[in-house]
Amino acid sequence: MKSTPESNESQTSSPSAPQSSSGAVQNLKDMADLVSLCKRRGFVFPSSEVYGGINACWDYGPLGIELKRNVKELWWKAMTDREDVEGIDAAILMHPRVWEASGHVAGFVDPMVDCKKCKSRFRADKIDAEALAQKKCPECKGELTEPRQFNLMFKTHMGPLEDSASVVYLRPETAQGIYVNFLNVSQSSRQKVPFGISQIGKAFRNEITPGNFIFRTREFEQMEMQFFVKPGTDMEWFERWKEIRIKWHLNNGIRKEKLRFHEHGPGELAHYAKAAFDIEYEFPFGWQELEGIHNRSDFDLGRHQQFSGKKLEYYDEETKERYLPYIVETSAGCDRTLLVALVDAYRFDGDRTWLSLHPNLSPYKVAVFPLMKKPELVQYSDKVYSELKKRFRATTDDAGSIGKRYRRQDEIGTPFGVTIDYDTLTQHTVTLRHRDTMAQERIPAERLVDFISEKFQNWNGPAV
Ligand code: ATP
Repeated sequence: MKSTPESNESQTSSPSAPQSSSGAVQNLKDMADLVSLCKRRGFVFPSSEVYGGINACWDYGPLGIELKRNVKELWWKAMTDREDVEGIDAAILMHPRVWEASGHVAGFVDPMVDCKKCKSRFRADKIDAEALAQKKCPECKGELTEPRQFNLMFKTHMGPLEDSASVVYLRPETAQGIYVNFLNVSQSSRQKVPFGISQIGKAFRNEITPGNFIFRTREFEQMEMQFFVKPGTDMEWFERWKEIRIKWHLNNGIRKEKLRFHEHGPGELAHYAKAAFDIEYEFPFGWQELEGIHNRSDFDLGRHQQFSGKKLEYYDEETKERYLPYIVETSAGCDRTLLVALVDAYRFDGDRTWLSLHPNLSPYKVAVFPLMKKPELVQYSDKVYSELKKRFRATTDDAGSIGKRYRRQDEIGTPFGVTIDYDTLTQHTVTLRHRDTMAQERIPAERLVDFISEKFQNWNGPAV
């Protein structure tokens, strides 16, 4: 009986040389390729697809939700492993005065222009200044309308009466739930300034121009951390958090050359902010914001103090001072971080497509395959699978040729494949196949867990 996996990938006893099946390795160029992979493999589906979908809303499928949980857990761990950061989970619906205090009712507006000819809609601040001045549509050169201000908050009503007194908003950011809980958290957790509060949760914005897959949607998740500091120490903390946050993205395996800081110039800087940097990623559609790091001064607590009439000052027991802390914010989109992970990991060599995801992000860490659907192989494979499952999120597959099964796992970013063949039955060794190089090596079945753990510990992503 043939004991080599039935594929164009040979099996050897020591790691075989990297085998690229055809041409040079390419990165993602066309977002449509990623959208298609995500649908085919169960990462992301269009929302309400049987009804024709709904603009800019997406559902995460079985693998997408695993990837998303990994993103969130890595972020949450990085934040709350620190002694000086606590977590909360605030309600999406908040007192409407919150949004007056925050400035969202009056100021959370984007200027919107429409093309009279092709009916396309644009954010006036995102189109070329010359085209805007000439009122020319960037798509069809038709005439554009005057810019109109458009509030991005979704409104709804609380209770049975739909009158102006019952208006509430779906929160457009998670940060306000943190600000209004500043004293609750500091008093209950006995945290002293400087300390931070982190939160992951849904936010809603009635975006004028959503798009680019899950890059800009109307319902999304944010991962925000607000760090409260003594005035005067804010710039030092701002610099520290900038470094911490870019390292986090690098540690997730995102390529260094695809990340950069963008400093908000005088025109972009919010009136209350002392300093603001975005971490940007180079998507196939250009450099775009992934996360914002902002020095928000004492604006937020000051406004909530003013609008609520409640003192929100912090009392420093050591120095006997009372002050409103400054806030350094790190605000990342969860969906956008996930999109960056997928875009950055996408590889194609003319024949094979694979996601070179960092193992911390991969939905499955290892896949186990019996070479053929023979009872003795399946039985052994099940044993190996249940051992591996105790340690790693794993999957198994016995349908179709081994080559096809490898390719399937490549496309969902599973770092390792383990194949059980007839030699396994007599020698208790298995083939371990590496996703990125397709190299294969033969190792004792009993060493698998340790071997894979070591590989993960020494994963050669960008060392930071
Ligand atoms: P933009 O100017 O592009 O609309 P923003 O500067 O208003 O974005 P922030 O309010 O700073 O964005 O939001 C923080 C983070 O939340 C962003 O860096 C992004 O990752 C994420 N985010 C914001 N809006 C959306 C959206 N509509 N869809 C998905 N993620 C979003």
